[in-house]
Amino acid sequence: MTAMVRGAAANVDDPRRALPAVDTLADAAAAAAPSTADAGRGLLVAVAREVLDGARARLADAAGGPHGDAAPPDTNGLVAPSGVDDLVAEVSRRIAVILAPRPRRVVNATGVILHTNLGRAPVSREAAAAMAEAAAGYNDLEYDLATGRRGSRHDVVAPLLARLSGAEAALVVNNNAGATLLVVAALAGGRSVIVSRGQLVEIGGGYRIPDVMAAGGARLVEVGTTNRTRPADYERAIDAATALLLRVHTSNFRITGFTASVGLDDLVALGRKHAIPVVDDLGSGSFIDVAPFGLSPEPTVQASIAAGADAVTFSGDKLLGGPQAGLIVGRAEVIARLRAHPLCRALRPDKATLAGLAVTLQSYLRGRATEEVPVWRMIGGDVEGLRARAESWLRELGAAEGRRATLAVRAALSAIGGGSLPGETLPTFVLSIDTPHPDTLAARLRAADPPVIARVEDGAVLLDPRTVLPDEDEHVVAALQQALTPAPPSPP
Ligand SMILES: *Cc1c(COP(=O)(O)O)cnc(C)c1O
Repeated sequence: MTAMVRGAAANVDDPRRALPAVDTLADAAAAAAPSTADAGRGLLVAVAREVLDGARARLADAAGGPHGDAAPPDTNGLVAPSGVDDLVAEVSRRIAVILAPRPRRVVNATGVILHTNLGRAPVSREAAAAMAEAAAGYNDLEYDLATGRRGSRHDVVAPLLARLSGAEAALVVNNNAGATLLVVAALAGGRSVIVSRGQLVEIGGGYRIPDVMAAGGARLVEVGTTNRTRPADYERAIDAATALLLRVHTSNFRITGFTASVGLDDLVALGRKHAIPVVDDLGSGSFIDVAPFGLSPEPTVQASIAAGADAVTFSGDKLLGGPQAGLIVGRAEVIARLRAHPLCRALRPDKATLAGLAVTLQSYLRGRATEEVPVWRMIGGDVEGLRARAESWLRELGAAEGRRATLAVRAALSAIGGGSLPGETLPTFVLSIDTPHPDTLAARLRAADPPVIARVEDGAVLLDPRTVLPDEDEHVVAALQQALTPAPPSPP
């Protein structure tokens, strides 16, 4: 049966014979668009071959080919000789996808400031420029300019972190997950770590504290209960194998009601009494007190150091507002042990990261972080200013014929997000769009260039100016213009 069909497909009427040769198609695609020609011959020919293979397979299917009983697929007009234009367009489309910037820039109109799926913290323009410059050139990353000898990348940013936190020493690694793994491996490998049951968190992406213990070669000793842990629970659990008391910030959830936890002061006192180091994994870790911004109080990095933590770990791209990094500050002796561990080399940060981090930390040192670091500008965004921006979007959109959507500016809430300050919100004003098919409208906004990511809530599409960078307003308006007119959203 199969052989018969194959034989039939090879006859002179076979539309596959009308398909151009690979080189012909590649030439036609290159001639059609300079951006396609720019792809280079190798890529162009490879993609042309893939497109032709696809067309051949579809034509075979349409002819009732090897896939026998399956319904004939949509041949997309490729049967006709005029289909060559479609093949050229398909080559260009595929080349454009391959050569598009990645990750793609998007406009975050969700109102979630530290949006984990959207790359968390955007860094300041100055930090971004320093990252680009470090990446594109040479620098003294591991070179001592005074002596002409080898230096260490770990000395580049550490002094700034130590100064800001009040700690003796500091270390930068790839991310905070890496920082906690390094702490566990270097300070407690082969021994045990005591953690409160209320703090055995999963951060996201399958990152769970018990798994980190296992990966770091330490034994996890759980104390207390989910909702209550007291100093006596730790005291009872401490034995000769105890190498570390670890406090983990419950970054992405809150336990309320009948609760008790052991404060860092008490944990430090216990650690001192038994000569066991105490590490505070702050997760988000802020140098700025969040309370004046209307958020629930959070311990700052400086406060944890002042309370006597031997080391404090936190992320570079959460509330700090810098590039992805894991920051560790603490006692010089502890940091030296971390630096000596082989994992430290495996987790070392890149030069661009260090350059961006330095500029971000310098904003804090100059007392300008709330003006210069985008995350803090967003957190501190004045609600009347946000209302004015949402209203200006509405004004620029104006009225349009046949629009099956109702637009209004109304009060709503922005979120901090990113596993920081769970449930904490900030009052904002959003452009709210009521439409019969909000998910379709949200999808159309995602299809814009650059894509605009909105929030769908209670059947309406919400766009929050708080997380839209100042120079992105025009993109929001253009994307809305296109998504709302001329055709109103219709069901998928
Ligand atoms: C976010 C978080 C981490 C992981 O930090 P990354 O920088 O994302 O690797 C670890 N611990 C806590 C408590 C966190 O909140």
